[in-house]
Amino acid sequence: MKLSYAVLAAAAIALAACGPDGSEKSGAAAVDGARIAQADSHAGDWMSYGRTYDEQRFSPLGQINAGNAGQLGLAWYFDLDTDRGQEATPLVIDGVLYVSTAWSLVKAFDAKTGALKWAYDPKVPREVGAKACCDAVNRGVAAWKGKIYVGTLDGRLVALDAATGKPLWEVMTVDQTGTYTITGAPRVVEDKVLIGNGGAEFNARGYITAYDAEDGDQVWRFYTVPGDPAKGFEQPILKTAAETWTGEWWKLGGGGTVWDAMAYAPELGLLYIGVGNGTPWNQSERSPGGGDNLFLSSIVALKADTGEYVWHYQTTPGETWDYTATQHIMLADVPVAGRMRKVLMQAPKNGFFYLIDRTNGELISAKPFVAINWATGVDMRTGRPIENPEARYNKTGELFVGNPGPAGAHNWMPMAYNADTGLVYIPAQEAPFPYIAEKDFESKPIAFNTGVDFAAGSLPQVPEIKQAVLSGLKGALLAWDPVNQKEVWRVQHQGPWNGGILSTAGNLVVQGNASGEFAAYRADNGEKLWSMPVQTGVVAAPMTYEVEGEQYIAVLAGWGGAFAFPPGELSFKSGRVANISRLLVFKLGGTATLPPAPEHVQAELNPPPATADAATIEHGKVVYSRFCGTCHGDAVVSGGLVPDLRYSAYLDKDYWFDIVLDGALKENGMVAFADGIDRDDADAVRDYVIARANESKAQP
Ligand code: CA
Repeated sequence: MKLSYAVLAAAAIALAACGPDGSEKSGAAAVDGARIAQADSHAGDWMSYGRTYDEQRFSPLGQINAGNAGQLGLAWYFDLDTDRGQEATPLVIDGVLYVSTAWSLVKAFDAKTGALKWAYDPKVPREVGAKACCDAVNRGVAAWKGKIYVGTLDGRLVALDAATGKPLWEVMTVDQTGTYTITGAPRVVEDKVLIGNGGAEFNARGYITAYDAEDGDQVWRFYTVPGDPAKGFEQPILKTAAETWTGEWWKLGGGGTVWDAMAYAPELGLLYIGVGNGTPWNQSERSPGGGDNLFLSSIVALKADTGEYVWHYQTTPGETWDYTATQHIMLADVPVAGRMRKVLMQAPKNGFFYLIDRTNGELISAKPFVAINWATGVDMRTGRPIENPEARYNKTGELFVGNPGPAGAHNWMPMAYNADTGLVYIPAQEAPFPYIAEKDFESKPIAFNTGVDFAAGSLPQVPEIKQAVLSGLKGALLAWDPVNQKEVWRVQHQGPWNGGILSTAGNLVVQGNASGEFAAYRADNGEKLWSMPVQTGVVAAPMTYEVEGEQYIAVLAGWGGAFAFPPGELSFKSGRVANISRLLVFKLGGTATLPPAPEHVQAELNPPPATADAATIEHGKVVYSRFCGTCHGDAVVSGGLVPDLRYSAYLDKDYWFDIVLDGALKENGMVAFADGIDRDDADAVRDYVIARANESKAQP
């Protein structure tokens, strides 16, 4: 009896992963670099943001497949305790599902039953929401040796005990006096947790930091743009980068935040990061003499162990349109002209699909994956875009209705690569934008510092621009052949801002969309196999896992993110859905049902009469467009996640000033704006809001 137990135990130890001390490891404790590298041998798990270090978001699971996907049904769901955009991809390790939600909350569930195991709230002050360009979102957690890591909106990196959700350590990764936020998912490589940040619409200078996964000690930091040359450079390469800038860019931050994409090539020891747009967008305000402004809008390869620069490829030299290259970076080995190449693929905001040699940064090919008008192609001799001269609104002084606009031809929503079909699946879109240089630009606290005149481009007042922009709004699930650089099939959606993508060995592509549908398609030809209405827009990417021999597909539902805020009325083109934040989990034959969706009750528009003179209203529009519209929506039409000010009960009350100037509602995220505007400005904003409310009432 004793002997047989010992034999069984020995066999169990031999089968299980062993730690360095010889102890048996399971669950999140077993996740390390070797385990992630062998992800296909643990196909039931999803251990890292993009499943694997190459971030392909392809699962070898095939129980749910093109032949039976029609039998998908809801296995379980969980109503979340936030009502902002949900962008995270869950992780699943040995039957436990870990997920982050808006406001950087983290939860762990029994992945089979949906029972909540623990919940962690980092208590992000809600007023931090005013520093976030693009909603209070979070894209995911990382797992490593028994810990779960989350970056919080207010700039902390927190390590949690995977078993209990109790915080083990936390480190502040950003300067609190700045306008940094964290929305991206950390990755862990070589015992280092990697985390970037956002804030390039305000005054940020971008960087990425590596922390010791065990105790949170800083290991290295890489700045993506040079600081003040008089103070010396943190890395030698920044001296070279500084030669591509002019003026006093460091006073405005410079931008270049690393707010989303990373990928890791273990065989090369290289970490790839995607770098964001310039601060301000308008290059003439940032670097008046022009220049490439390295490393804005670039893919940069760093040594993962030291953070040392290795190579870069800049997608948009001298960027001036918010064309970030922070979009999904994925690695694959593909045949190009008869030989296998180690490639890196990216479809950044600027609309080109790039195929790059990941060993040295050599551009292999680049082609537009949607219609674009800022450039006509990429010069393969120089690797530089062939620009349309009209696109440089900062030089011409003229309006340029650019396509893509700041929302990009592809934003943060993850793509997927399926080696069986050889296709990359892109949540592609077209969302043109009126670029007009702001006259007398001045960087201000808590304002969108873009150098682009949002008031002049405000849509209802300029009908011809509105028509051009509205008719240009498109969204599609695009199947792209990355080697031959051509579209193979597409599924057209109602508008832009659709969900991230999962592909599987079951010949499936799975995607939710902005109009509230969650669907599965054949990976080879795009035929729709199954769909379900889910009551809210889906922007997050689905993932899949297996527990006790049964395959599941999970996705976070909940409309939100950048497109739900500044575009206001335009965002309705995608489906005008409410935010209902939920974790949804599907399986074959699932029979759970959602509760009925709450009915939308339209409040009555009853503003006080508009009595202000035209000049005051115009001033109010300018202030509104700079400080308020990025959350409350262009021309005072809310995208639905924050109050629509035309309906405010305070339009004729002095409490308006308590809210706008003094932060009376800061617990709701409405920060005090007294640092940026005065009482006359706040009064003029009120007059503009009243005028817009009366216009809307007259012309609903
Ligand atoms: Ca940006």
